[in-house]
Amino acid sequence: MSTPGAIGSAILAYHSLDQSGSVISMHPDVFRRQMELLVERGVRVVPLPEIRRSPGAVALTFDDAYRNFVTHALPVLTRHRLPATVFVVSGRVGAFNDWSQKGYASIPRLELMDWPELVEVAAAGVELGGHSVTHPDLAAMPPERAREELRRCREEIAERIGRPPRSLAYPYGSSSPDVRRVTAEFYEVACGTELRYVQPDDDPFDLPRLDVYYLEDLARFERAVTGRAAARLAFRRVLRRLRRIL
Ligand SMILES: [Zn+2]
Repeated sequence: MSTPGAIGSAILAYHSLDQSGSVISMHPDVFRRQMELLVERGVRVVPLPEIRRSPGAVALTFDDAYRNFVTHALPVLTRHRLPATVFVVSGRVGAFNDWSQKGYASIPRLELMDWPELVEVAAAGVELGGHSVTHPDLAAMPPERAREELRRCREEIAERIGRPPRSLAYPYGSSSPDVRRVTAEFYEVACGTELRYVQPDDDPFDLPRLDVYYLEDLARFERAVTGRAAARLAFRRVLRRLRRIL
């Protein structure tokens, strides 16, 4: 049960940092201002696996491991010493986000980091999490194939980076009770579909996130991360429209 009045924490979901204006893109200058604002306002930024135990804190996550993370995110995160998690599609490392083309023509085709870049990013202190091998809808696959996607992704990252991933993001946020059960064999926490704040009693294998697509406006971003209740309620109405797009 939620504690009445408990301050939710927020997992922010970024994808690509570029200037295309697509639904998965945030302008690098906006991202830099957002990180500065977190520091200026004294918002506590914690590693993703700790978010449930950190009321009022923020965790930063980046889906798909786009190459532009190295240029636009890493220097900013390093400068401000902010922890972050990058979710890696282990079978597409060094390739492109081709899975996104299906049905979403507005999503640009973008380069993904290769293994040497991921090693560099991990060495800089960024947590590498799993995002499956091929970016399928795990809940729509036969359970054994979903299990292989989760197991092999963990194994490949562990081999290449030298330590296994603790976190997972379900592709498209899509999971089922079966998928979540298998995920618990291989990971400590996983991010799911729900677009809301995290509460301490949330299922660690279906953690909600806030997509930054609707937080590009800096004033709205500030309200969302500094915990003003009225703003949070308004924000939830906006978020309902975004369900299942990404
Ligand atoms: Zn993804």
